[in-house]
Amino acid sequence: MPTLLELKNVCVQRGAHLALNNLSLSIEAGEHVAILGPNGSGKSTLIKTITRECYPLLQPETSLRILGQDNWNIFDLRSHLGVVSNDLMAQCTRDITGLELVLSGFFGSIGIWRNHHVTADMRAAAHKAMARLEVEHLASRWVDELSSGEGRRLLIARALIHNPATLLLDEPTTSLDLPALREVRGRLRDLAASGVGLLLVTHHLDDIIPEIERVVLLRAGTVFLDGPKGEVLTTERLSSTFGVPVDVVTRDGYYHAW
Ligand code: ADP
Ligand code: MG
Repeated sequence: MPTLLELKNVCVQRGAHLALNNLSLSIEAGEHVAILGPNGSGKSTLIKTITRECYPLLQPETSLRILGQDNWNIFDLRSHLGVVSNDLMAQCTRDITGLELVLSGFFGSIGIWRNHHVTADMRAAAHKAMARLEVEHLASRWVDELSSGEGRRLLIARALIHNPATLLLDEPTTSLDLPALREVRGRLRDLAASGVGLLLVTHHLDDIIPEIERVVLLRAGTVFLDGPKGEVLTTERLSSTFGVPVDVVTRDGYYHAW
């Protein structure tokens, strides 16, 4: 399996702002990694640069290689990456059924459009992914009528439909209540244990499930620190990343900031 991601000196401009500033990062397929950083530190821009919704500035020292390739047809690329983000969540407002939402992972869309041809194999794969997340009972429900937790589990099923080596999760627990939070974290733990790679982007320490071994701290669009979880998630390092005093407490493999 080639290296999932190799970014060298990547700069991404968004509006007047340099959202990624000379960012270099390498991640192997199947690794469980958290990207942690304050609001505005460039986390979502990093995910969007990987999925080619944002493009790096053209500079001689810049390179962006995904699964060993520099150039991609974006539809091929997206079929290799399973993405769960709040942008996708926000698009789940139309009358789309749970099954259609999961199936639309095949087309890189949200919902099935008239030009999409859904095969029996695709349906079987969708049901399999839904069974994995225990959301088969949501197949004929409208997605805009689901709870946040149900919607999130369907989006994870959608992301799994191609059996991607790694899931890219941008703040996957936003707006979930306690039971839904535990449910989604439990599903992510199961997936990690079954060998699916996780690249989890968050500003919440509590999202870092015990299976995540490596943490990358982002600050002002660049990597501030990258290493084993226990070395990165310290009081001193988190305080300087977030710019406020942070006290770190661990329990049952989870980290919590006070
Ligand atoms: P994070 O996900 O870590 O909160 P983002 O990657 O969303 O951060 O944003 C990084 C920076 O880019 C922020 O300063 C933000 O204001 C800016 N930014 C994000 N999206 C846009 C946009 N569409 N237009 C202009 N600036 C943007
Ligand atoms: Mg973000």
